[in-house]
Amino acid sequence: MLNRLIFNAFIFTAISCSFLKGYAVENKDADIFYKVTIDNPKEGRINVIATFNKLPDSNLIISEQNFSEYLNLGGLKAKDEQGKILAIAITKGNATGPDRLYEQKVYKISSKGAKTVIVEYSVKPGTIGKHGHRGYLDEYFGLVPGSGVFLFPLDDTDINRIAVEFKLPEGWKVVCPWKSDKNIFVLEHSSYQYNLNMADVLCEAIIGFGNFEMRSREINGFNIQIYAFSEWSDEHIHAICEQAFRLMEYQLELFGINQKWDYAVIFVPNAADKDRVFGGSWSLGQGFEMETPSLRSWELLSHRFHHVFNYYYPLGMYMIKKSSGWFLEATASYYEIKALASIGYYKLENRISQLKDSYDSLKEKCDAPLSTDYKQRFQTLEYLHYKKAPLVAYLMDEKIKKGTNGEKDLDKFLKYIYSEHGMKRSAVNLKEELEQFTGIDFNEFFKKYVDGIEPIELAK
Ligand SMILES: [Zn+2]
Repeated sequence: MLNRLIFNAFIFTAISCSFLKGYAVENKDADIFYKVTIDNPKEGRINVIATFNKLPDSNLIISEQNFSEYLNLGGLKAKDEQGKILAIAITKGNATGPDRLYEQKVYKISSKGAKTVIVEYSVKPGTIGKHGHRGYLDEYFGLVPGSGVFLFPLDDTDINRIAVEFKLPEGWKVVCPWKSDKNIFVLEHSSYQYNLNMADVLCEAIIGFGNFEMRSREINGFNIQIYAFSEWSDEHIHAICEQAFRLMEYQLELFGINQKWDYAVIFVPNAADKDRVFGGSWSLGQGFEMETPSLRSWELLSHRFHHVFNYYYPLGMYMIKKSSGWFLEATASYYEIKALASIGYYKLENRISQLKDSYDSLKEKCDAPLSTDYKQRFQTLEYLHYKKAPLVAYLMDEKIKKGTNGEKDLDKFLKYIYSEHGMKRSAVNLKEELEQFTGIDFNEFFKKYVDGIEPIELAK
């Protein structure tokens, strides 16, 4: 079914300038109030004043939500409501959250007796990661993951209401997945579906700064908003938004995903050094460079979108065994290709044979059983996720078609397990459910391609 393209006037949330004195008191109904200021974007620094109104009986402990090197944290200090400086002890610990499993710095603030704790710091996004700049800010635009901006309490059980105010350079606006018709974003636990926790709503959001045009479309309940850098030509904006909608629509239709859900995509230019810019990806949205889109840009858009319903909280699923985790990457990497083939970008078989070539050329150096992917790192992990796993998904698809005389395929199996296990977050017993659904014995297949490193051969 075709959906009507809606051009919504987006009520932007540029913020009036002065930081009202006593604001924290006025906002004491917010458990945490963040004031985010960009004074001079050329410097690339974002200043944050976080007011914690709900404090634990013991000391307040806050944590980084991203790698320390991505944050480039500076100027950290804390005071109470009287302006008394509070001591901060730095330790290492684990932040909570789906992708925040690494060691982050933890700040223990001597806040006993305080009614309110005000923490000031700055971050400087832009460090290079595997997708180019991990977060970015210059005089033209900014793109950051929430985890690159916000320090957050380690224990968030009592955090139900967060307010975020942005103070940006003149003419700049902020775009993100949160909704607001005022100058302040108020994130309330009760207004998010599926009991999404506040740490995730805040820290997994992708946030864009600058000027953007917005296109929105509702597809099977998904309310998708795309923000495209407004200095691009109308033709470019139209072309990239239309293509992105088509790729996302393909997957929503194919898997019969029908869920009321808000999803925000932010397309930004390349960095000044011409490198790519990545603001993150999660169930609320994704953001990256789309100035001169390559084949890979579109595949990554589709890959990340697939994770919204196969993996990311709260619409995704769990696998019963860690050793089945590879399947989540296999399907994301296979359906990124199928999505592009569906719009005639290339022929599925051609892209699969290209993948097979790079699989072959790196096999000796990088190969490992797919079932061990959760233990792998760096080159081997990349090889398994982006080269081998999609090939194995393709073989699986072919095997299902052959074994059921074309009655079933991987599309149908995924549609089935997403409806069974997605949203509800029940766990998938991969091999058992695959065999049950298809009526095909997958013993040999798993032995060779999942638990072993048997060379993959494609039918001529
Ligand atoms: Zn992935």
